[in-house]
Amino acid sequence: MSISLPALPYEPNALEPHISARTMQYHYGKHHKGYVAKLNKLIEGTKLEKLDLPDIIRSARDSANTAVLNNAAQAWNHEFLWNSMSPDGGKQPEGKLMDLIATEFGDIGGFKDEFKKAALGQFGSGWTWLVMDGKKLRITSTSNADSPVATDMQPLLTLDVWEHAYYLDYQNERPGYVTAFLENLVNWKFAAANLD
Ligand code: MN
Repeated sequence: MSISLPALPYEPNALEPHISARTMQYHYGKHHKGYVAKLNKLIEGTKLEKLDLPDIIRSARDSANTAVLNNAAQAWNHEFLWNSMSPDGGKQPEGKLMDLIATEFGDIGGFKDEFKKAALGQFGSGWTWLVMDGKKLRITSTSNADSPVATDMQPLLTLDVWEHAYYLDYQNERPGYVTAFLENLVNWKFAAANLD
């Protein structure tokens, strides 16, 4: 068994004008595909070959196998990223997730401010996350390939803040990219489904 590159949940041009088809072609077709290919090479013929991605990540973390950890986490993070966005995204969550957001951030505007602050405050490459940390909703950032998956935290949403995620469309203007994500792309249905 090897890890396969999951299909994109929408067409490469579906997130335009916020994220171009050209960005998706590189980001999904080169970067994400590359992490999966590299991971499969690294685990070929090892006991990790039979595990799913979260278990590979857990095992690589425990054994400090950095090459496997980086590529496996990037493979997982990118699949989670595609699902964190939707052509029909933005708006705001409903039900239990909206209640949690109101408790933690006051309202959806408070959430967006905090998420934006975290995404812009991440120095260099990394990821910004909305997670459940126990019973508490929390925004957190990770560097490079690091991920809250296979930890005590439950990821709900993510945004990739590596330059490769936005440079073709926004050049060095990360704020425009983060705003486009928050206003137009966030897949709140996916986030809510991750609560359970
Ligand atoms: Mn990426």
